[in-house]
Amino acid sequence: MNLKNLTPIREGSPSCKFCAGVGFLLEENVKNSTSGVLLLCSCVGESCPCGGKAPYMVYDESQNRMLPCVCHNARMELGKVEYLVKKAGIPSRYRYRTLDRMELNVDAPGKGGFIIAHNWAHDLIKDWGKENKKLEGLYLWGGTGSGKTLLACAILNELIFNYGTECKYAKINRDFLSTIRDSYQKESELHGMEQTIKKQFTDVEVLVLDDFGANKESDWANSQLYDLIDTRYEEEKLTILTSNIPPTDWKDKAEGRIFSRLMEMAHPLHLDCPDYRLSHSAFGTH
Ligand SMILES: [Zn+2]
Ligand SMILES: [Zn+2]
Repeated sequence: MNLKNLTPIREGSPSCKFCAGVGFLLEENVKNSTSGVLLLCSCVGESCPCGGKAPYMVYDESQNRMLPCVCHNARMELGKVEYLVKKAGIPSRYRYRTLDRMELNVDAPGKGGFIIAHNWAHDLIKDWGKENKKLEGLYLWGGTGSGKTLLACAILNELIFNYGTECKYAKINRDFLSTIRDSYQKESELHGMEQTIKKQFTDVEVLVLDDFGANKESDWANSQLYDLIDTRYEEEKLTILTSNIPPTDWKDKAEGRIFSRLMEMAHPLHLDCPDYRLSHSAFGTH
């Protein structure tokens, strides 16, 4: 798949019919990979004198020094996208999935919520980084299979492709609450790392918190959740939350502080299609 509408990168040959000038492309049908892989395009790599060996430099006799190979910039840009997607921790089945690769059948029953959320995501990407745009997060809620994790991850992938934004995907229990609990255990390798762990979550530019409130949380957990979203709100960082429960269910938790913060920082959208995953299994939704 050529990536010309997803990224401003142009390190390939402008007339190339495979990459349309980007310099690399997304190969989708790869064995043992649900998400596909990024490949250097033949318009960059075929006549490349460095033979694809890092650091992609070649000796120039006339200048008597090493110069970047013709493939150098394209490989660097490809590597940067790969690195940001990997560092973000996006689950492998959602890696490189983008908004334009989702089927939007308007007539499907209960599909309205998904389309509204899809449009919202599209506008977010389009307006990213523009001045005077209010940075509003998203509270995507709906049942299993409604496509909320897919949409949230697609936003991260798009931000990485389009802008090289630093992103993070996390399951709220496994990646946040449990790791903080581990940091209290003397025998854990995370012992004493509580502040470092929290910093990773508060500092990252865009954060997806998947399964927010999936379990019945203790007062301790609720106060951790409040502190996290409150800090991100204060720092004006974008947070996207997915949940099985409607935002009003937070009204009684942590003295209602979580609810009021959520209302201030995130736009609630309900995905009401109960079997999006079943009816569109090829798209790997969740
Ligand atoms: Zn090409
Ligand atoms: Zn080369």
